[in-house]
Amino acid sequence: MTDTDHSPASLVPQLRVIPRDVHGVSRKQMSPNALRVLYRLREGGFGAYLVGGAVRDLLIGGQPKDFDVATDATPEQVKALFRNCRLIGRRFRLAHVVYGREIIEVATFRANGGDDDGDRQTDDGGRLLRDNIYGSIEDDAVRRDFTANALYYAIEDFSVRDYVGGYADVQARLLRLIGEPEARYREDPVRMLRAARLAAKLGFAIEAGTAEPIARLAPLLADAAPARLFEETLKLFLSGHAVASFEHLEAHGLLPALLPETAKALASNSSGALRRMLVQGLRNTDARVANDEPVSPAFLYAVLLWPAYCRALAQLQAQGVHAAEAQRRAADRVTMHQVARTALPRRFSLPMQEIWLLQPRFSLRQRKRVFRLLAHPRFRAAVDFLELRLAASDSHAEDVAFWREAQLEPSAVLAANEAREAESPDAEEGDDAAAPRKRRRRRRAKPGAAP
Ligand code: ATP
Ligand code: MG
Repeated sequence: MTDTDHSPASLVPQLRVIPRDVHGVSRKQMSPNALRVLYRLREGGFGAYLVGGAVRDLLIGGQPKDFDVATDATPEQVKALFRNCRLIGRRFRLAHVVYGREIIEVATFRANGGDDDGDRQTDDGGRLLRDNIYGSIEDDAVRRDFTANALYYAIEDFSVRDYVGGYADVQARLLRLIGEPEARYREDPVRMLRAARLAAKLGFAIEAGTAEPIARLAPLLADAAPARLFEETLKLFLSGHAVASFEHLEAHGLLPALLPETAKALASNSSGALRRMLVQGLRNTDARVANDEPVSPAFLYAVLLWPAYCRALAQLQAQGVHAAEAQRRAADRVTMHQVARTALPRRFSLPMQEIWLLQPRFSLRQRKRVFRLLAHPRFRAAVDFLELRLAASDSHAEDVAFWREAQLEPSAVLAANEAREAESPDAEEGDDAAAPRKRRRRRRAKPGAAP
């Protein structure tokens, strides 16, 4: 591990140039459109650099998600160079150069001025409210979050420019905040989630000084904008590294800040069944992403909040609330609490609730009900969810088998089922939302247990 001194006093950026034959990143690995932008800026007499995640990912042999460009040209100067350019952003103006579906984001070097700088405002807790002044490339480097994210690939000589020791940290697979960690987290608490997410995605270790304050400062996330936390949650769990992200969140005490009710439910579920189910759900999500299969935020949230839902449901049932009513109220309660933390839009929270509320209906086998459930728009998601619940308990393995077959051959499966029911005369009509018939005589689920 390289242990360069990153105390605030050492934050005088120091340029190290890594030539092409040393860093090994080639233009062939870059988006042709990003290269077009870089060359055009350079022909216009401006400095032009690939920056951020793209440089980092190329250095470790990864495939960048998008290619961001940094330049000393102002947004207006950028716009003058490209017909296919639009300026966006109020707080900080950015240029988007649009090539069909690919957008190359071009940002003018930005500075975070000193405390007495009129254009930089922080609140009492040191949180950054506005940072919209242009600066030098050095300024631009030190206002970024991690050293690995502050590397610049220069189109003029194909070198990588490193001002904060990022190159050595990438080689050492280390995520290190630039500057004094606690101050940087106070400026922007979402950086704590970014640390967990990038460590998971890149397989980097979080450097000790960068990791240390996280558990202590995690409560600061309560003040972050719920819409931003929602976006960050999707990046954490829908980018193919959900299990690793979850483990980092847990290890650094970030789970209560992001999913408070789920964190409580997991802590009180001593058998670990709820955690097993959640992790299995994330494992499946990662597998789908790896196979280029679609993943939905509604299903993801159904998985992430299932422990919270089970806990709320058990509490309501313990208070004597009837099953169907308890299910609806538990779903609403959990959704309401979560929306206050991460702004979960209704187009996701409604299908999430449906997935939960359909679960008890899988134990009902009357012909009419079976056909109604098969035709339900959320049937596929709900049956996938039912199968997932096997990770927590195998009490409904038979239901899973039935519905898998019913999906393919509803009539045959029903006929077989009806023949079997005819032999056992104690069959009775069940309530739509009631617990499985064979367990109906049990008074109530244990608190925290999967219903
Ligand atoms: P990903 O591969 O997930 O896109 P990324 O590092 O590119 O990771 P982005 O959110 O695309 O992440 O941000 C682009 C760059 O902007 C980062 O590499 C970093 O330099 C800078 N950045 C992003 N978020 C912050 C932040 N909260 N504080 C400081 N710098 C940030
Ligand atoms: Mg990026």
